[in-house]
Order: sequence, then structure tokens, then C-alpha cells
Amino acid sequence: MAQLRIPGPTPLPPEVLQSQTKQMINHRGSEYHAMMTDVTNKIKYVYQTKNDLFILTGSGTGGMEAAIVNMLSPGDQVLSVSIGIFGDRFASIAQAFGAKIIPCKFEMGKAADPDVVRKALVDNPEVKAVLITHNETSTGVTNDLAALSKVVKSFGKLLIVDCISSMSSINCPVDEWQIDVAISGSQKGWMAPPGLTFVSVSQKAWDAYSKAKMPRFYWDFGQAKKYLAKEETPWTPAVSVIYALQVGLNMLVKEGLENIFARHERVGKATREGAKALGLKLVADEKYASNTVTSIWLPAGIEYKALSKTMREDYQITITGGQGALDGKIFRIGHLGWVDVKDIDECMVALKGALTKLGYKN
Ligand SMILES: *Cc1c(COP(=O)(O)O)cnc(C)c1O
Repeated sequence: MAQLRIPGPTPLPPEVLQSQTKQMINHRGSEYHAMMTDVTNKIKYVYQTKNDLFILTGSGTGGMEAAIVNMLSPGDQVLSVSIGIFGDRFASIAQAFGAKIIPCKFEMGKAADPDVVRKALVDNPEVKAVLITHNETSTGVTNDLAALSKVVKSFGKLLIVDCISSMSSINCPVDEWQIDVAISGSQKGWMAPPGLTFVSVSQKAWDAYSKAKMPRFYWDFGQAKKYLAKEETPWTPAVSVIYALQVGLNMLVKEGLENIFARHERVGKATREGAKALGLKLVADEKYASNTVTSIWLPAGIEYKALSKTMREDYQITITGGQGALDGKIFRIGHLGWVDVKDIDECMVALKGALTKLGYKN
């Protein structure tokens, strides 16, 4: 069967696809109200949080921008902990709105070192907020967010985390890890189409909100809170994506968080073991290897374009390439959402076949 093995959008179960053919409803009516509350509560279950949780219409990057403009003022110092492209993007957004970025960058493939972050916070006492990517999709590395959060919180700083490609696949308990704003996106592990982003907002984040002066309108958390009290959103939401999300969430809740995380551990491990069995080298430090996306170095003599074309045309499997400095050097396999080990087994058979066709010898 054809497989979309990229880190979002992800393949959707048939019942999720079906749900999107439903007729539109009034987004200010009782049927919508019930759906909004149900979906919000189920996302909070996945987030493991009692904080406010808003569903915003936009992609994940919109959620990142929302976090920045609601939390900060121009001129604020922000520590940007980056281990790849998405970490860099977070800093770029903050910078675009006038924040002063203090970079804390780590080599591609490595996780952020909590001791280096601690030193950066000692050296920069004026830092207002710390930006961290939980799961860096460009390299396939999952940061030790529990340890990083401990450091950030020992300095009493605001913690804003891009959990876009981890939440709903990898354990990310928002309250336990004291994440002030946690962002995710519907097209990653949520078994829903693209179009929605989720943000949780802690009390500390609300305190920051009350002082934040960056320009905002569409993304204003205050508006979102006011309307959520009426089981609505300030602006017209992506109604059909919410239909789909509700079905995906029902499946997630039924499976249960423990089982979801265990399944992603299995598929992550199967992908890494499969790649290594083919003699391939992983980009990520294996201790921090992601269970939602695996990055693999292209072996000598194999070009990404030829590999992805052979995978797609001969095996109906879509993989993706490297971003930024890793473009043309690596390929990536997404394994989040509606996926199990048998999908990975199939993918590995195809990968072996494609590499062999292209002249690769293990
Ligand atoms: C996918 C992703 C994003 C961006 O999300 P869009 O929905 O494409 O805007 C940001 N951060 C991470 C870690 C991601 O995986």
C-alpha cells in the first residue's frame, strides 16, 4: 500500500477522512459548542495539562508566532536553544517581532546540553523567556525536556516549547515539566489534517501576557480565552479539520497515552534498527533519537533525488530529504500518528530494494 512516510502531514485513518465530508455547521451554534469543548478537553488529556488550551486555525508556525507575540515585548531578551532548523525558525520569528535573541546553538544531530543552557542563563540574567524545540524534526532528535525544564525553572524563566512533532506521540507532560506555552500542530501525530495549531497557556504565561507589547490581533490569547468561555473561537475555525481532529482524538483517547508512546517507541526503534541493518548511519545521537522521525545519512554515491524517486515510483513510498545545511546529505522517514511496525517493515523492504537498484552495496 502507498505510504506517506514524512513527518507531517501524516496518513489518516479512513474514519478520519470520512468525517471531513460532513456538512458545515454554525460555528456559533450548540452543535459546534459541544464539539469545541469535547475536542479541547481531549487535547488537554494528551497535553497532560490543566492549563488553558486554545485551538487556533493556522499551521504550527502560526502557533509559534502566537506564542511569541502573546508573551514578549520588543527588546526583550530571549534565549534560543536550537538544535536545528525548527529551533532556528523559532528564533527568527521572535527576532522579526523585535526580540533580542541570545543564541544557544548545538551541533546538528545532537541534543541540547542542560549544563550549557544553565551557563547561558547565568551569563544572561536579563533573559525573559527560553525557546526550546522538544523534538527537532530536521535532525530527528528529541531533547531531554524534563532536564532542560529543570534548568530553566531553577532560574524562574518563562518556558516556551515547540512540541509540534512530539505532542501526541512522545510523552510531553506539560504540567509536570512546567511548560508555560506548549505548541503543537494537527498534521503531526494527531491523526488529523493540517490546518490547526494548539497552544497551552500557564498562569505564569498569563502574567507575561499582561505585560507583553508585541503587536497581535488574530493570535491574541485574550480573545481566544474570552471566546472559549462561550465554547467558541474569536474567528471562524477550520470546521472540517475539527471534525477530523475529533475522530483522531477519539482514537488516541481509546488507545491511551501509555500505549501511544509505546507504539511510537516501537516504530522509532524499528526504523533505526532497519536502517542500521542496511549498513546506514543515523544522523541523531542514538541516546536522543526521535521516535517520530528518523534522519539517515545518504550513503556515498546515492543522491537524495534518485532515492526518493525510486522509493515513490517503484514502491509508492514517499520519504523526505534534509533541510538547510543537511539538504542533499540526509533523508528522513516520518513515523508518527497512524503508524505501526508493519508499516516500517514494509518501508525498510522498499528502502533496501531502492538502494540496491541504485547500486548501493551493504
Ligand atoms: C512541522 C513542524 C513545524 C512547523 O509546522 P507547520 O505546520 O509546517 O507550520 C515547527 N516545528 C516543528 C518541530 C515541526 O515538526
